[in-house]
Amino acid sequence: MPDNIQQRIEDLRDQLNEYNYEYYILDEPSVPDYVFDEKLKELQDLEAAHPEYKDANSPTQRVGGGITKNFPTIRHQFRMYSLDNSYDFDDLEDWEKRIVKTTEEPVEFVAELKYDGASISLLYEQGKLVQAVTRGDGFQGDEVTANVRTIPNVPLKLKGDYPEKFYIRGEIYLSHKNFNRINVAREEEGLDPFMNPRNTASGSLKLQDSSEVKKRGLSAVLYQYISDIYPDAETHWDLLSKAKNWGFTVSEDRAKLCHTLDDVKAFINYWDTERHHLPFDIDGIVLKVNSIKQQQQLGYTAKAPRWAMAYKFKPEMVETQLQSVSYQVGRTGAVTPVANFKPVLLAGTVVKRATLHNEYIMHKLDLHENDYVYVEKGGEVIPKIVGVNKEKRQPNSLPVTFIKNCPECGTPLVKMEDQAVIYCPNELHCPPQVVGRIIHFVSRKAMNIDNLGSETIELLYRKHLISNLADLYILTKEQLLPLDRMAEKSAQNIIDGIAKSKEIPFEKVLYGIGIKHVGETVAKKLAKHFGSVNALEQATTEELCNVEDIGYKIAESVVNFFHNPENIQLVERLKSYGVQLEKYSSATEIIDDSLSGKTFLFTGKLSLFTREEAEEMVEKHGGKNISGVSKNLNYLVVGEKAGSKLKKAQATGTVIILDEQQFLDMLHS
Ligand code: AMP
Ligand code: ZN
Repeated sequence: MPDNIQQRIEDLRDQLNEYNYEYYILDEPSVPDYVFDEKLKELQDLEAAHPEYKDANSPTQRVGGGITKNFPTIRHQFRMYSLDNSYDFDDLEDWEKRIVKTTEEPVEFVAELKYDGASISLLYEQGKLVQAVTRGDGFQGDEVTANVRTIPNVPLKLKGDYPEKFYIRGEIYLSHKNFNRINVAREEEGLDPFMNPRNTASGSLKLQDSSEVKKRGLSAVLYQYISDIYPDAETHWDLLSKAKNWGFTVSEDRAKLCHTLDDVKAFINYWDTERHHLPFDIDGIVLKVNSIKQQQQLGYTAKAPRWAMAYKFKPEMVETQLQSVSYQVGRTGAVTPVANFKPVLLAGTVVKRATLHNEYIMHKLDLHENDYVYVEKGGEVIPKIVGVNKEKRQPNSLPVTFIKNCPECGTPLVKMEDQAVIYCPNELHCPPQVVGRIIHFVSRKAMNIDNLGSETIELLYRKHLISNLADLYILTKEQLLPLDRMAEKSAQNIIDGIAKSKEIPFEKVLYGIGIKHVGETVAKKLAKHFGSVNALEQATTEELCNVEDIGYKIAESVVNFFHNPENIQLVERLKSYGVQLEKYSSATEIIDDSLSGKTFLFTGKLSLFTREEAEEMVEKHGGKNISGVSKNLNYLVVGEKAGSKLKKAQATGTVIILDEQQFLDMLHS
């Protein structure tokens, strides 16, 4: 019997690896998603029930979930060198001359894209991924294997005829699509957007929770085989093709084998413009001597291989004339200056505005009216102004000064003492701030009204259908239907979603109403400590400061919030509509420890409670839920039509089987 199980586990792993390869590498899935999901689920259950067959490279490990507190430092067996840079064709010609002097024979080059991400070194032994290490300082890096396992196109198990042990290096990067998706979500949650895909990719590799890494949507591309042992190959090009056959996504896909430097130049010229159409960022081209024998002959300088060279694209910069500076008020009230200029072509698109970031940067540029400015598109998504051509400045033009009043509501602006930010203090009535507050209120971590997107909220506000959070609860379907592109079904979904949000527990509502400095954790602590919004309203700064982890800044902000009658009124209205503004027992609150030390699993169709409710009950009484039948399981609670889990549990002879009523009886005894 155990042998059969082990066999089944291995078969499932093989099948899932194959599906994964078809899906992510070949882009030709052979089975529908649900087949993949079913098999993955079966494998997860089997592995949970049989921890003895655990394998870090099982496809189940791709979903992440492991937490790494500290990433161990690992010394690279082979140093990870930098690349020398070149900026024009003259540099390349010099480089070729130097090479030929050493090799005394013609050379061929492989030209590849220079992927703009975080470099990684993967170690494979017996065809299995055993270690992933960041570049670090080139001599040693951080081990991030658990995080790299979640990247779908990194093979966990290789195919074909691979060497016993080797390293392969490449780049972990984030596509524009995933980068934008992350930023849209961050903005909805009121977080600052990430700057660029490269930093986001390298930051993601260092996240402690691998299931969060998975959600980022990273990709990998491999470009260098490194080992003492070379498989039967004489060139870098051959090695890339081999790596591709072993299951890797390799740089070869967009690379070119160049017989002459003219081929190289043509490749560079092509990508200098084409790069703007790639779904990810590159910051140049990498050239490598193709012959491995010649590579060895050339060797390394103190810093970089002599057989490779990066060609960096010039960050595109254009000159154009400033027309005006306008100001945008963000959802948090921060005012950002924006330069509007004569439209120019930059990096393949027409641009006519660029952010000036903040007052400090604007003044450092010393911008005057009608100035000629230099606009650059660097790694960031939004172009920026990097300088002013002072020679072209008109003699009597005036310096540009920051506005004094909010362009949206007229309120005098204020400057944050410790920051460069200038903001509008009219939180309650400045239009973008009101909208921002409502967007925050409906976001996933607060009221979780996911049918109501930011665009709809903006539209509702503009049409005067809502002017604060509480107004959401008196919206009717009839009011929604006449809106642009609003179908019957979506209108109903919005109304239903709003109604459902009345069940959201107090601590999330408290987070949602958007008191400055009250984040998720603080909201939880306040809800738990005060138990109701009315008690919180009455609290003094001193009382607040006595709550664990609540400092003066937060306390003051809470007191200020409730000092404002408008906020009190808002809260009262929410309460009158049935929104939870009192503590109702939350999942983590422990009632007693009657189930302490006991483990539970629920199976089959439950009729007295839902699975979520059941699991919550277990936790409230100090017990633990586990995900599969194993020797660690004490109780299996079965509903109707219980299947394989019941059989498995019966077979153990140690698991106690209960029906739903018996489970409830346990709680009250
Ligand atoms: P730099 O960081 O500018 O010194 O450039 C060296 C880095 O370029 C390496 O550490 C790699 O992470 C990265 N790189 C991106 N694409 C390639 C490629 N196709 N071949 C080699 N290195 C690459
Ligand atoms: Zn304002």
